[in-house]
Amino acid sequence: MDLRVRALETVLAEKGYVDPAALDALVDTYQTKVGPRNGAKVVARAWTDPAFREWLLGDATAAIGSLGFSGRQGEHMVAVENTPSRHHLVVCTLCSCYPWPVLGLPPTWYKSAPYRSRVVRDPRGVLAEFGVTLPEGTEIRVLDSTAEIRYLVIPQRPAGSQGLGEEALAALVTRDSMIGAGLALAPTAAR
Ligand code: FE
Repeated sequence: MDLRVRALETVLAEKGYVDPAALDALVDTYQTKVGPRNGAKVVARAWTDPAFREWLLGDATAAIGSLGFSGRQGEHMVAVENTPSRHHLVVCTLCSCYPWPVLGLPPTWYKSAPYRSRVVRDPRGVLAEFGVTLPEGTEIRVLDSTAEIRYLVIPQRPAGSQGLGEEALAALVTRDSMIGAGLALAPTAAR
């Protein structure tokens, strides 16, 4: 895959279709500047501000954009909320579609064929491998990202986090919890 990507980049650069420096700048941006801390800020705001939560659930692209997070692979965002009765888990069965502006680049497992195929057949089993065991009665919904729609999961706010401010709350929000493959950290675990 590495070789194929490099060959493709060489051909495109030689023909003048892409500027290698521009590609480097893009990769650097998403590898070092944009990441799941963005999404964590969105989730912490939703936990503390009911009006923002409503906006996020109704028009995620606009609500997320209001915090300054927008751009490629985040043009059509949908936010879903995990509750005691319903848990959402995100996959891209076709490839690796992922909400870059809020989560950065996808982890390797998200792009792997085993995750993409198994999560739709056995979400509970896959969650167990991530160390997540949900109550029997919790419905699990697997959401398939597309080239257009990208999902942000709002994890359940952890118990014992009542007194925390937005910044402390954001520290509890893990990348995996915003994919649905994990839960937000308990305040004690974060400390
Ligand atoms: Fe994809």
